[in-house]
Amino acid sequence: MTPDEFRRYGYQTIDWIADYLAHPERYPVLAPVKPGQLTDALPASGPERGEPMEAILADFDRLVAPAVTHWNHPGFMAYFANTGSEPGILGELLSAALNVNGMVWQSSPAVVELEQVALRWLREWTGLPLDWFGLIYDTASVASMHAVAAAREAADPQSRTRGTSPGLVVYASGQAHSSIEKGAIAVGIGQDNFRKVPVDAEFRMRPDALAEMVGRDLAAGLHPCCVCATVGTTATTSVDPVPEIADIAERHGLWLHVDAAYAGSLMLAPEFRWAFAGCDRADSLVMNPHKWLLTPMDCSAFFTRRPEVLRSAFSLIPEYLRTAFDPRAVNLMDYGVPLGRRFRALKLWFVMRYYGREGLANLLRAHVALAQELAAQVDADSRFERTAPTPFSVVCFRYKGTDDQNKRIQERVNSTGEIFISGTVLNDRYTLRIAIGNQATLRSHVQRAWELIHEAADAL
Ligand code: PLP
Repeated sequence: MTPDEFRRYGYQTIDWIADYLAHPERYPVLAPVKPGQLTDALPASGPERGEPMEAILADFDRLVAPAVTHWNHPGFMAYFANTGSEPGILGELLSAALNVNGMVWQSSPAVVELEQVALRWLREWTGLPLDWFGLIYDTASVASMHAVAAAREAADPQSRTRGTSPGLVVYASGQAHSSIEKGAIAVGIGQDNFRKVPVDAEFRMRPDALAEMVGRDLAAGLHPCCVCATVGTTATTSVDPVPEIADIAERHGLWLHVDAAYAGSLMLAPEFRWAFAGCDRADSLVMNPHKWLLTPMDCSAFFTRRPEVLRSAFSLIPEYLRTAFDPRAVNLMDYGVPLGRRFRALKLWFVMRYYGREGLANLLRAHVALAQELAAQVDADSRFERTAPTPFSVVCFRYKGTDDQNKRIQERVNSTGEIFISGTVLNDRYTLRIAIGNQATLRSHVQRAWELIHEAADAL
């Protein structure tokens, strides 16, 4: 492609993106396609000879975009949002253009140093200890797997050479994200040694139950090594009591990991810091700028107080990557499984500079306020009931009827193409769930969702 052609198609693509972001609601929020429909619309084999860019872009527009579930749509309220933003997209574009690999400092100093700078700013904005170490993984799932691996390393340093010794035990609440259990599977601790700690009536881990489980495991000769507390659980956004969990972790020498994948962004607004009390006593914490900090997928920020443990778990330097030692030349490949490292910090740094802490905090506040208004409306409506507290921007509620009726409401709302909501099971009852977290979502969209839910209930 010549520079002139690149310029032409580049402008065309940016125009497409600008129009799309201005009106994502031109598309139904949920892709109205059947499984296999896109596959069947595309040739079974790739082209022998190159095709014109016009044809590729036209097929993107005609076939691919309509088969997308639109996370940018203001009516997307099903899962925790992926909040993209224009500055984030530009950062991502430049990162693709540079196409560097930050496996060691020398292979791209800017990747390593910007990652350290952006994460230091983030620690400052969130009130996390400044002397912690940070690095970016693709997802919170991978970050948490590394936390479990570090816990294993701290408890059983021989495991790296010998393999995991039997008897290590990991704890998280029954409401924790499945990625914690997957982490235990991945590092060889095993599902049989993963404990789901019971929760209280507000879906928070019960510290008394944790203490009892740890005591029982110790009495049985097992080796408790890690507990994961969640601030902002996936189903209800409940907040585990981190200070009490930290007490137990300290008493028994457990690695304390905090999964704040969704809610962690709220630390930017001081009035939400109550939810993160005790997090400064954690050994590690993960938060996802790609969930609620306007940074496009993928960007998960992992912080640890004990980077040396992560390093001793994973550092394995092939001869061709050995570099002269300089304490400021950090080699991020030493802190985990991935060698290759995309320039993810660039988009985060663009976003942080463009919006500033205050701009980002104000957006989060607006989302929480929209959810609080909806929660009050649910409470005021005798046909509906809330099924969990609403500390942040997710409202869990149900029609006071059968599970089947609630599922029918959800299906009817989602079939409009205007709004996409999800459901979950709480206390054995099907519950509806509205998650607000998209830059484009305004009060009018949340109110429209509530109107559609009413219409669906009327139609039952
Ligand atoms: N932790 C929590 C609390 C989540 O809600 C999620 C996903 O929604 C994850 C972890 C996994 O995030 P990721 O998709 O970045 O792996």
